[in-house]
Amino acid sequence: MSKAGKKSSQNFTRAELLVHAMVIELEAVQSYKELAEQMEQCGNSAVAGLFDKMTKLEAEHAAKIRDTAGDVELPDLAPWEFRWSGLEPPENIDLAGVHYLMTPHQALELALENELSAMAFFEAVAQDSTDDEVCCLAREFAADERQHVAWMKDWIAKYPPPDDDWDYDPDPPAAMA
Ligand code: ZN
Repeated sequence: MSKAGKKSSQNFTRAELLVHAMVIELEAVQSYKELAEQMEQCGNSAVAGLFDKMTKLEAEHAAKIRDTAGDVELPDLAPWEFRWSGLEPPENIDLAGVHYLMTPHQALELALENELSAMAFFEAVAQDSTDDEVCCLAREFAADERQHVAWMKDWIAKYPPPDDDWDYDPDPPAAMA
């Protein structure tokens, strides 16, 4: 990305941080769930199982954030009011990167990328924040994402990178239309 796109400062209020964190986690739950279903349909149950795990993981994270929010009224932000550093929420998986023959290794690389950008997002908020409490909370969220990143890396280590012909299917599914 070019320097021209230098992000707006992520100097969030506590409620803004919580609402962004909620959206990040809920988007992740949604993406991982869709990926799990997609992989299951294609008979790739290894990848489906991994995405199921990630779905649960992110759902737990969302629940934790909701707990943290307690009875704080979260602002109801319109999509354009969200201040992401990119165009998409950090944990929103780029579905274009998904192939039905994708190996666990590739799926995990994709998830790792998302976890890394979520971590970077919270780190940026922590760094830009002028409010101690917000800074502290953002650091805590970044630490959670760092944990997810570590898990992804552990899993990636368990799965070898794909062969060059990973997308070769001797019996491709009929009628993609
Ligand atoms: Zn995560």
